[in-house]
Amino acid sequence: MIEIRGVRKSFGGTTVLDGVDLDIPRRNVVTVIGPSGSGKSTLLRILDFLEHADAGTIDFGDGAVDLTSTKSADIRKVRSKIGFVFQNYNLFLNKTALQNVAEGLIYAKGVKADEAKRIAREQLDRVGLADFADRYPSTLSGGQQQRVGIARAVALNPELLVLDEPTSALDPEMVNGVLEVIRQLGSDGMTMLMVTHEMRFAREASDKVVFVEGGSVVEQGSPERIFEHPEQERTREFLSSSN
Ligand code: ATP
Ligand code: MG
Repeated sequence: MIEIRGVRKSFGGTTVLDGVDLDIPRRNVVTVIGPSGSGKSTLLRILDFLEHADAGTIDFGDGAVDLTSTKSADIRKVRSKIGFVFQNYNLFLNKTALQNVAEGLIYAKGVKADEAKRIAREQLDRVGLADFADRYPSTLSGGQQQRVGIARAVALNPELLVLDEPTSALDPEMVNGVLEVIRQLGSDGMTMLMVTHEMRFAREASDKVVFVEGGSVVEQGSPERIFEHPEQERTREFLSSSN
């Protein structure tokens, strides 16, 4: 179990996260849903120290790390366990798909170039891009670029894959290919924490759904529980307005 506890964050006096606790069981897909501005991206960014929390911890089972820490050992420890997939891919535009995936292995993990390329090919194959290894991002569709982004994160063999709206920048016809890749990773046993506005996908691909509003967890449970029998009025309102 990966345990996140007491995450708080304010921006200029406005509370954005108000003490968020989250349990992510290993090999589960946990999906966070909630209105725009409810603090979902901020929570994910805090987990990778892209944003500093005002309070909170994360524990991968080997001791809680303070998310307010500025010690590079703490930051490295957490970052080495998390793979991040961004909404806008964040690929290196001057590198091929293969180089994008191999890069992190070489620089973050010290893998030799040949071995990194071998792993990168394997991961590109896994996301259905075996034939696109030598393409530059500008010659790939949004969906293909996002699959490179996923391959790049997965290649580092993270304990937790974090995805912030991985399909929201895509044209509708590109969404399914990316969702299929995520679904496959889930059934391969990858532990994932995902934010999505795709309610149908959240329902089909998640083990647990967490509804967040105003920086707090309102309720959480199995997809069936949250989507079919929400207990909180706020959850019902959100779900009926987001269909
Ligand atoms: P969306 O569904 O639209 O992506 P979200 O739930 O991801 O929304 P966040 O991006 O986490 O929401 O933002 C939560 C709140 O924090 C918003 O009101 C946003 O304006 C504010 N916020 C986020 N980052 C900053 C920042 N760097 N400085 C000031 N305010 C910020
Ligand atoms: Mg967001």
